[in-house]
Amino acid sequence: MNFLKKLWRIISRILLVVIILLFIIFLIYTGPSWWRHWVVYPRLEKEQAELLTKRKTPQKFIELTDYKGILHAHCYWSHDSRGVIGEIIPAAKKAKLNFIFFSDHPHAKLDTFPRAYNGIYDGIVIVPGTETGSGLMVCPMDSVVINWSEDENQIIRRIVTNGGLVLYVHTEKSHRWANPDYQGMEIYNIHTDLLDEKSITPIIIDAAVNAKKYRSWVYRLFYDDQFKIWAKWDSLNMKRRIVGMAGVDAHNNQNIRARYLADGRVEWVGPNAKTLAIVKPALKEKLLLGKPDAAGWAFKWEVDTYFASFHFVNTHVFSDTLSAGAIRNNLVKGHAYVSFEHLAEAAGFQFFATDRHGRVAAIMGDSISVADVNSLHAVSPLPVRFQCLRNGQVIDRTAKVYDWQFDPQGRAGVYRIVADIRLGNEWKTWVLSNPIYLY
Ligand SMILES: [Zn+2]
Repeated sequence: MNFLKKLWRIISRILLVVIILLFIIFLIYTGPSWWRHWVVYPRLEKEQAELLTKRKTPQKFIELTDYKGILHAHCYWSHDSRGVIGEIIPAAKKAKLNFIFFSDHPHAKLDTFPRAYNGIYDGIVIVPGTETGSGLMVCPMDSVVINWSEDENQIIRRIVTNGGLVLYVHTEKSHRWANPDYQGMEIYNIHTDLLDEKSITPIIIDAAVNAKKYRSWVYRLFYDDQFKIWAKWDSLNMKRRIVGMAGVDAHNNQNIRARYLADGRVEWVGPNAKTLAIVKPALKEKLLLGKPDAAGWAFKWEVDTYFASFHFVNTHVFSDTLSAGAIRNNLVKGHAYVSFEHLAEAAGFQFFATDRHGRVAAIMGDSISVADVNSLHAVSPLPVRFQCLRNGQVIDRTAKVYDWQFDPQGRAGVYRIVADIRLGNEWKTWVLSNPIYLY
């Protein structure tokens, strides 16, 4: 008896030590996320709300309308996404998008257009496109068959000549930068930004703790200014206009989900939209699965929801009308800017050049003789730090203003604006304009 008592005492002590150790390990790994949950994120949201009370609608200088949307997204047509319109449109509506340019992975060497989703869905313009393994995004905007066995340069030329859109995506990789026909490139991509993290474990832990309440801030955790890509973009713009746009690379595929199949069995779907198992409903299924949602999911634990990606970063295009052709045409002209919309809605931001009568003579994307420009002018709906870059170098910084004017004093060059907002004791990159080209 005495021996048993002794043994139990030893075992219970070991158990206690193990529990304490496990708890310490749990705290070490999840502690930073709990700190963010209780302190950092609520404080950021409070500061953000305070900042938004300072919103003033700027005077409308640019006659065209500011439409916002996203480029580079995947749906069920891609092997690594299950996205369907029933979940894409509500997410796009919530993010107040006007357009979506898809970039699905092709199924075969012969790529037929249009396919997947194409047209206007609940007022949102949807354009189908392809993303190739080499980081090319094309939207032919026509009924065509692309043969991906052909030379890439020829494919690009044909699509551009026939009124399509050709963008270089995943610009952290090397591309045929000297190609004379492609029209634009990603100056930000959520996936690109994630790739430079040393480890994604802290982000997954933060998502587990915070995704439900603070999903945008979880995304922001891995945000980095893309200086290397921006330097490349600036250097390319010294030769010809290369439009900067943002890719969201939305897949809605970093999830654990389950759905009922027609035969009553349950399919479990894991990361990258891969089937984990197809099983007869057992206790686990009975406990976890509920009523199927619009996309058919009866259970889901999601990290990269369509809304989170659509809300994180947008491309705004100044256009006369909202149609696939008009958005494409104005994007190609560089009448566009990128905004981190989860920080604040950027509509109202404008960057333009005025003549000596104070009239708008050029807007972002345009080329104009420096002799015809009296001043470069930017306005913002929120107080920001305007940074003006000329040929990739910061030449002016003005903080906490809504309005910025600059006399280029006859100096030709490629001028662009970065607008930063003040949150969490630092300047956060908010808006990246396309350049005005003074020659
Ligand atoms: Zn992609």
